[in-house]
Amino acid sequence: MGELPDLRAMTLADAIAFAEAQGWPTFRGEQIWRWVHDKGVRTFAEMTNLPVNIRDELPARAHLGSLTIAEVQTSRDGTRKLRLVTRDGQSIESVLIPDGEKTTQCISSQVGCAVDCQFCATAKMGLKRNLDAGEIVDQVYLARRLLAEQEPDRKLTNLVYMGMGEPLHNYDNMVKSLRILTNDKGAKLSQRRITVSTSGLVPKLEKLGKEDVRPNLAVSLNAPNDEVRDMIMPINRKWNIGKLLAALKAYPLEQRRRITFEYVLLAGVNDSLRDAAQLAKLLRGVKCKVNIIPWNPHPEAPYERPAPAVIDAFQAECKRLGLPTYLRTPRGDDIDAACGQLANRSNGSPIVPLRVRREPPPPPPVE
Ligand code: SAH
Ligand code: SF4
Repeated sequence: MGELPDLRAMTLADAIAFAEAQGWPTFRGEQIWRWVHDKGVRTFAEMTNLPVNIRDELPARAHLGSLTIAEVQTSRDGTRKLRLVTRDGQSIESVLIPDGEKTTQCISSQVGCAVDCQFCATAKMGLKRNLDAGEIVDQVYLARRLLAEQEPDRKLTNLVYMGMGEPLHNYDNMVKSLRILTNDKGAKLSQRRITVSTSGLVPKLEKLGKEDVRPNLAVSLNAPNDEVRDMIMPINRKWNIGKLLAALKAYPLEQRRRITFEYVLLAGVNDSLRDAAQLAKLLRGVKCKVNIIPWNPHPEAPYERPAPAVIDAFQAECKRLGLPTYLRTPRGDDIDAACGQLANRSNGSPIVPLRVRREPPPPPPVE
């Protein structure tokens, strides 16, 4: 099965070339592709408008790479964490976050991550392997199925590459997945509603700026100076803040768009008023906003989340200095689904097959 091409990992152009290589009419390539990426079928047998000979031959010519849902955990705030298993038995995680009318899905790009940020749970896994484009897009298709089944009125509206892994370390598959997901004959996601988050791989950022797909960009800055960033993000020793900002200033932003900087707030490390002032000065003149993410705890890191008053004071100082900042309240942190908590821990809850039972109603918030 490994040698057969994977229909789920193909762009529309790949599928057309595939059909032609089989000696089938060109339009069959598009038909097959639409079954997978528009209609979301999971077996060849469901491709009912194909002639019987093609439907019979397909399984010998291609396979349909798929993830399976091993477990769904639902947070008391409605956030769902999906544990998905690849064909070779690797677990990855994806998170569905309801927010009023919006529903954002956070997807993974790798099993683990090689970047080794000191505050991040995924870093502790190391890098197991890249996900292929089919495994990246299938996270979206499975989430859509789950929503259709459990909450038919809710539609997936936004997508962020902020789960496990560094998307720009898996550049080709990431870009391919963007091409597949934004195709208006397939999943039809708008690139304006897709955000790729990176720890700042400068050469790959420059490359991304030249692609025909243009997602929004989020950059994990997390520090107001190189001294702190060197300490918490080793990648800064290779591409420091100066190099990163130079690449971002050259990045061809679409009209009216701005870069999002993520800033994980760590008590006593990067949360002082002086840090806020330095950050505001650093980003002056950059078309951006800053998402402040108070650190989400996990057992493997020696950090603490700052006290609420410190978080508020940090944000107020940024705002006073003219830096647009937004405070990200942790979502799904009771099930380890918040930023930086994805590391395949399941809280020991039982594995639930795809027909997921409805979770009991959430308990009232405890003051
Ligand atoms: N690798 C990419 C995308 C995944 S990480 C990147 O680093 O941008 C997504 C975000 O989670 C990053 O902004 C990271 O800084 C943040 N993050 C990591 N660990 C965290 C933690 N424990 N608490 C809060 N945010 C965290
Ligand atoms: Fe990797 Fe992002 Fe975690 Fe850093 S913050 S280790 S880049 S997943």
